[in-house]
Amino acid sequence: MKSVLVVSQAPEDVGELLNAARPFGEPAILAFQHSAERAEEVAEYGHIVYRLRSDRPEALLAAAKKLYEELRPQLILGPSTKNSRDGLALLAGLYDLPLASEVTQLEDAGDYVVYSRGFMSERVIMKAKVPKPAVMLLKQKAFAPSEKGGKGEIVELGAESSVRLLERRPKEFSGIRIEDAQVVVGVGRGFRSKEDLKLAFELARALGGQVGATRPIATDLKWLPEDVWIGISGKRIAPKLYIAVGVSGAPQHMAGVSDAKVIVAINKDKSAPIFKYADYGIVGDLYKVLPALIARLKK
Ligand SMILES: Cc1cc2nc3c(=O)[nH]c(=O)nc-3n(C[C@H](O)[C@H](O)[C@H](O)COP(=O)(O)OP(=O)(O)OC[C@H]3O[C@@H](n4cnc5c(N)ncnc54)[C@H](O)[C@@H]3O)c2cc1C
Repeated sequence: MKSVLVVSQAPEDVGELLNAARPFGEPAILAFQHSAERAEEVAEYGHIVYRLRSDRPEALLAAAKKLYEELRPQLILGPSTKNSRDGLALLAGLYDLPLASEVTQLEDAGDYVVYSRGFMSERVIMKAKVPKPAVMLLKQKAFAPSEKGGKGEIVELGAESSVRLLERRPKEFSGIRIEDAQVVVGVGRGFRSKEDLKLAFELARALGGQVGATRPIATDLKWLPEDVWIGISGKRIAPKLYIAVGVSGAPQHMAGVSDAKVIVAINKDKSAPIFKYADYGIVGDLYKVLPALIARLKK
């Protein structure tokens, strides 16, 4: 029995993962997407290495499932990379295990794992306790790497998978790259309908810019494609001018425009948080301000 299953995507991540694993007991390493040479490198840390050649999340799931059943680890540790996240989130779902990503600290607390992770660009740090066994995905470079030592055995794993891929579909792209625009007009829930967004498009056109959106506009209301969603979980943009119209200025949105050179806010509520971030602000109804602004720009 091994206490920790360390899932490594590259030899560069394994030192950090092993250091984080140390308080929890003896590790076994599942090295996925590794060439023979890379697996040899990982074996230099002195632990058993299960080598999986595939980089597919479904193959990682099958391998992690097999080792989870065999070794019954109390902790599954991996890097917060896309493929590791996809495969290990499936494992957590399959066995109903607690899962956390971007973890920056870990403690062994008997039957529990105590972990920390940041939110809102690390402005808030959350510390939580979850029962073992648990899946923890570490933030890169959050842990110091451990030293190599010894020579571990390498076991080859087949890339069989219990998941069948039915279809691969490329993500639809609207053709708009707001991250390249010098001027972006950001629209928020201050707009009453999708049709009213034509005011924002007219303003953007008059300034040679593009229209971006807050999350609710792109995801909940689906008035604009997700390609133009700005913020911590959307696009980060750095235009010369960002004009926020009917946008309240939530930190998750503003994290996406912190590199804008000049921010202008148009909001009817003078206490809206957006005014704290704005270089210039207009307190007023967008339905009056935008037509006046567009008319002036057209002149
Ligand atoms: C984990 C997490 C991640 C998130 N990630 C993102 C993200 O990446 N991007 C993002 O945008 N949000 C994100 N959010 C959501 C975010 O917290 C806010 O809810 C969202 O940004 C608010 O969008 P809004 O400004 O369009 O709407 P609201 O907050 O509803 O603001 C609308 C504003 O319009 C003003 N207004 C209303 N009518 C008028 C008018 N006629 N004229 C002028 N002004 C008017 C109001 O005064 C108000 O300030 C995230 C939330 C969570 C929990």
